Amino acid sequence: MITGKNYIGNNLIANGIKTYTTFNPQLNKENTSVFVEATTDEIDQAVSLAKTAYKEFSKISGVRKAVFLDVIADEILALDDELIQTYCSETGLPEGRAKGERGRTVGQLRSFAKLVEEGSWVEATIDTAQPDRQPMARPDVRKMMLPLGPVVVFGASNFPLAYSTAGGDTAAALASGCPVIVKSHPMHAGTGELVASAIIKAAEKTGMPNGVFSNINSSGIEVGVYLVKHPDVKAVGFTGSIRGGRALYDLAAQRDEPIPVFAEMGSVNPVIILPNALQDRGEALAKTYASSITLGTGQFCTNPGLIVGIKGAELSNFVSNLSKDILEINPTCMLHPNIVGAFEQSKSTVLSQEKINVTAEFTDTVQSNYAKQVVATVDGSTFLENTKLHQEVFGPFSIIVQCENSDELEEVISKLEGQLTGTVIGANDEVSEYSNVVSALQNRVGRIIFNGVPTGVEVCPSMVHGGPYPASTDSRFTAVGVNSIKRWVRPFSYQDWPNHLLPDELKNENSLEILRHINGKLTMSKI
Ligand code: NAP
Repeated sequence: MITGKNYIGNNLIANGIKTYTTFNPQLNKENTSVFVEATTDEIDQAVSLAKTAYKEFSKISGVRKAVFLDVIADEILALDDELIQTYCSETGLPEGRAKGERGRTVGQLRSFAKLVEEGSWVEATIDTAQPDRQPMARPDVRKMMLPLGPVVVFGASNFPLAYSTAGGDTAAALASGCPVIVKSHPMHAGTGELVASAIIKAAEKTGMPNGVFSNINSSGIEVGVYLVKHPDVKAVGFTGSIRGGRALYDLAAQRDEPIPVFAEMGSVNPVIILPNALQDRGEALAKTYASSITLGTGQFCTNPGLIVGIKGAELSNFVSNLSKDILEINPTCMLHPNIVGAFEQSKSTVLSQEKINVTAEFTDTVQSNYAKQVVATVDGSTFLENTKLHQEVFGPFSIIVQCENSDELEEVISKLEGQLTGTVIGANDEVSEYSNVVSALQNRVGRIIFNGVPTGVEVCPSMVHGGPYPASTDSRFTAVGVNSIKRWVRPFSYQDWPNHLLPDELKNENSLEILRHINGKLTMSKI
């Protein structure tokens, strides 16, 4: 049951006076549950509990953390239809998407459970002592990853489950041994509270310390700002706009003790579409891209917002086919009137620039909060001169850049800001002719896709969901897959520390049977 209260550790508390509701964009009306924003006292309490919980939680075994994560997954599934219906009423997204995202969220939690149960993720590295080494003895040095401390996670508007309360950031931080304080996204506060209740139930059932998790309601940016500035918070995870992510990053850098902010932000996900591929299967590609641009009403960080090709009959045919196909797709609902407003505003900013041609624009009347898809074209030279055309339009929108030749194509790609993904559509024999373009693309993105679409992010250890700024604030890390745990840990060395006082991961006997680097060799051996 949704109470509208904050989880301050295991307790539901709401002493504040600022209230808000969520919005059903399909029905174009407010939902009935009333949420109470956390007071500064409540936030202080949550952080203080997290700080205390860290002392115990950071040392809990991988096996116990795995049980905790698995029970969170079970408790989320046990929320059953209440969760699905709340999700749909707060997002306008269909039931199928809600269930798919729940499956992904549960899958993420279980994959982190497996990772920490196995245990080798801590990157144990041991260089044994060489007392007789000349001219100086070598000490015994042993390194492993340790959790940073309390982490604040900002829920994302476009993924209420997979990138929010118990989403990838939270799962990774808990797996690492960091307590988590979620700044609930105000647009899906009910979904957030239900998932938070599942985490708290799991924490209680598995004997985790009170404060390992808190869920904080907020209706404006003040709560998030307060949390990021809080001296006992040690890292931040964020998914959303460049403006929001950058503001939090700057705030964290200005603290007396700066802390890392891992923000996954905007991306236009360039798609390079080469002439031979267009000649071979231009019609099919147009259909595929019409679907990809409109998938989820374009509200994916991997939406293909920019298609780049070389002028010619093939590209012209592709533009007309894509423009025809995209108008045959029925418009769908956006997450919230504010997102609709942001879509309309950023779309009109791009379309009001000089030398932009709109080739498809849905003009029929649509229901409130439904988005009308748009495709536009522009010449390579105009695109290069005007960086307003490079910005993300979050929604069903794509701009096709028509370049004179492959040199201009390379220049367009190399002038782009950092991106989450880049896609190359080419016939097998033509891609090698564009190796400079492919290299330029590799330099700008975190993931490169061959003959596919950027929408759809597989959750697996080899996935990189990140990229050069502003796709993310630190391109060395991924936000998806078990390797995202590395954002919440730091390397730590013990020198000449007695064996019995070392953590199990570094003890001679390797009772955990994990893979370790010992004197330069990867092994499961004892010492
Ligand atoms: P957002 O505006 O970036 O907000 C995300 C979260 O950060 C919200 O909880 C918000 O708090 C908080 N926040 C934003 N600015 C802040 C600031 N200056 N200081 C402290 N906290 C701040 O994103 P959104 O609400 O999810 O959607 C708005 C727009 O973001 C979309 O239209 C879209 O352009 C973009 N977006 C992009 C992606 C992507 O993956 N590329 C994903 C989602 C959204 P409050 O809500 O409490 O104000």
